[in-house]
Amino acid sequence: AKAHIAAIEASRDLNAFITETPEKALDMAKASDERLARGEGGVLEGLPIAIKDLFCTKGVLTTAASHILDGFKPPYESTITQKLWDAGATCLGKLNLDEFAMGSSNMTSYYGPVINPWSKEGGNRQLVPGGSSGGSASSVAARLALAATGTDTGGSIRQPAGFCGIVGLKPTYGRCSRWGIVAFASSLDQAGPMTRTVEDAAIMLSVMAGHDPKDSTSAPLAVPDFKAALTGDIRGLRVGIPKEYRLDGMPAEIEALWQQGIDWMKAAGATPVEISLPMTKYALPTYYIIAPAEASANLSRYDGVRFGLRVPGASLDEMYENTRAEGFGAEVKRRVLIGTYVLSAGYYDAYYLKAQRLRTLIAKDFEQAFQQCDVILTPTAPSAAFGIGEKMDDPLAMYLNDVFTVPVNLAGLPGISVPAGLTADGLPLGLQIIGRAFDEETMIRAAGALE
Ligand code: GLN
Repeated sequence: AKAHIAAIEASRDLNAFITETPEKALDMAKASDERLARGEGGVLEGLPIAIKDLFCTKGVLTTAASHILDGFKPPYESTITQKLWDAGATCLGKLNLDEFAMGSSNMTSYYGPVINPWSKEGGNRQLVPGGSSGGSASSVAARLALAATGTDTGGSIRQPAGFCGIVGLKPTYGRCSRWGIVAFASSLDQAGPMTRTVEDAAIMLSVMAGHDPKDSTSAPLAVPDFKAALTGDIRGLRVGIPKEYRLDGMPAEIEALWQQGIDWMKAAGATPVEISLPMTKYALPTYYIIAPAEASANLSRYDGVRFGLRVPGASLDEMYENTRAEGFGAEVKRRVLIGTYVLSAGYYDAYYLKAQRLRTLIAKDFEQAFQQCDVILTPTAPSAAFGIGEKMDDPLAMYLNDVFTVPVNLAGLPGISVPAGLTADGLPLGLQIIGRAFDEETMIRAAGALE
């Protein structure tokens, strides 16, 4: 814990943490020592980890990287963080993210951008860590935390993991409890681990997963031993390669890395099969209707009365307006506007209902594909990390970065990003493995073969 606290202090230029909790970490580490001395201790005993600042932590500032939650100290602990502490983990602090997890670059945080540690060595350009779990990815990559939690609504665990050269695992929707996690789009949000290795991700997931009566969408299933799934043997595994993911204009190095991944899996005894996911082209527009629609409903609770910031006004309405005008950043306002528009009486059928239908077709695409294969292999994102500030004036270009990750959330499937190579400029690239619903074990086994 001491070594990690010192590393965090020495790397404040990365801006990975919103709140550091060194005293809490030392107290928890001491309690761990005492348990270990008594011959007790959990799976994560004494391991210093950090938490995306979207998870409520009792008595510790929880900001969602938004001005509107100023000063909010939750009176309760999220189910997932409680499970991590119960397993013996030590809390180093709360990590930076895009405001309310809306973004792919960590640039929308009220607390400023996070720096990708891979940009330090290159020199001339500061790179984004990806997002929205940018602080999580940056802190694990820079060795400030042994592991971190992330959340993934459309790629926010996998894409930053890819950009920072670490492992990021989004479980099946329902595998982990969402209770106590600040909601963005409730039918898509899922928490998961961000780690240095697939094995670490498997261990973390075993602790984080499990049924929770406090989340009605959490699945009443026993938690498998995910670590035991890492047998190293992928002989006979059928690996689907979706032809629709060969995008025009995708950088040649990403194509090449993808091919290399296919070759590695073949060499390990797996069989690549070409599959088709014909609805892929509708995934981004579908996601960018459904996610803002749900966000506009979830964010209505930030009214200046119940949480955080309050900016006074002459009337109650004016107080709402002033609070939201000052408390929400530009991207959050954009999403609330889109969301309320697509849900409004005149446009509901044309946008929201149509998007829901497409979501079903996208899920069916995967169901059909999984009759021919056991896992699916794709690049994690269509680019490596880009420069800080780039794409900020062009939301559509930013949204395009999520092209390979959002279909997985729409279908509720598990996905993992594994660091698989470097660009010519020496930046990490990730490959994504998608599994069948609640078959994280096969996905983890396949991911192990790519490491
Ligand atoms: N980049 C996507 C968005 O902006 C996904 C974010 C997420 O997964 N939280 O909505």
